[in-house]
Amino acid sequence: MTIAFGNLAFDEPLKRLEIERRQPGPDDVRIDIAYCGVCHSDLHQARGEWAGTLYPCVPGHEIVGRVSAVGGAVTRFKTGDLVGVGCIVDSCRHCYQCDDGLENYCDHMVGTYNGPTPDAPGHTLGGYSQTIVVHEHYVLHIKHDEDQLAAVAPLLCAGITTYSPLRHWNAGPGKKVGIVGIGGLGHMGIKLAHAMGAHVVAFTTSDSKREEAKQLGADEVVVSRNSAEMAAHRQSFDLIVNTVAAPHDLDAFLVLLKRDGTLTLVGAPATPHPSPNVFNLIMKRRSIAGSMIGGIPETQEMLDFCAEHGIVADIEMIRADEVNEAYDRMLKGDVKYRFVIDNSSLS
Ligand code: NAP
Ligand code: ZN
Ligand code: ZN
Repeated sequence: MTIAFGNLAFDEPLKRLEIERRQPGPDDVRIDIAYCGVCHSDLHQARGEWAGTLYPCVPGHEIVGRVSAVGGAVTRFKTGDLVGVGCIVDSCRHCYQCDDGLENYCDHMVGTYNGPTPDAPGHTLGGYSQTIVVHEHYVLHIKHDEDQLAAVAPLLCAGITTYSPLRHWNAGPGKKVGIVGIGGLGHMGIKLAHAMGAHVVAFTTSDSKREEAKQLGADEVVVSRNSAEMAAHRQSFDLIVNTVAAPHDLDAFLVLLKRDGTLTLVGAPATPHPSPNVFNLIMKRRSIAGSMIGGIPETQEMLDFCAEHGIVADIEMIRADEVNEAYDRMLKGDVKYRFVIDNSSLS
């Protein structure tokens, strides 16, 4: 029996639950979870904002902790190792997406919560819990110092979700990169794009984040409600990564792209954005794209890149029983910049 925190219906708060984890099979790693980040996706899922939430719902896919048991065929981990688990706990392991290390795009990808599994209760339960059992393929090595562990947790989703599009669309020296929305994902996007050597412009709706965004690594900050500030950046960006969790006007950002520039959407609002103006795309051969988390090899690459560059998330630690309040604060943009649950508060 494992203590977890989750909810039983979309309109009920999260509370203490007792769940079962499978005994580790030959390829499995059991992890005692030390910390779990709180992603806006957890809120979307638990509160039924996305279709298809299965209850009980135990969210959490920014998991860090220590290996407490390994199956007989496990080769890459041993008891005591510091490890992480992100948004993926299984995939088919033989399609071309899996062969390319892009398990995140496998048709049979199993999410860390709300995914299909033979384990009770028939869908996966996430990291707001004391332990988790995961096939070793989906477990990541953590090379940061142990005292940074809590602040490493958000790299497992917020980190990889911004790292992957920055790499795919070649953020780096000589490139002007925008990051829209300075929340959990956005603040990681700023740090990562800065470390990759790009010229980074942060877009925020919150005047109060103007100075802090510079400390995170932004070269410039634009308050997106200010049309004069926006106009000063017309036709200048190679890439804009948009993390906003609510529907909004995409044209305001499309017109800031250079010819051939790309606006990549990673924010996943519950209802669609208003349709953008086609002329803003065809006149300058611009693209709107999407990107979902990242594959397992790239997640390891991102963790190693962050360890090398001294990058962790800016976090506010909470107890598990504070998560409902944390969700409400996240909706108001009142988080700097990621809540992380201290899982020892579950016991
Ligand atoms: P978050 O911490 O709540 O940050 C979102 C930020 O967007 C806010 O801090 C705010 O920043 C801005 N924002 C919020 N509402 C806005 C509005 N109405 N208009 C303009 N800006 C607004 O959320 P998160 O954890 O970073 O997640 C962001 C989104 O990405 C969620 O929808 C989540 O589900 C999704 N997500 C997607 C993937 C993927 O694989 N694609 C992975 C993880 C998460 P400012 O105050 O700076 O404006
Ligand atoms: Zn997430
Ligand atoms: Zn596959």
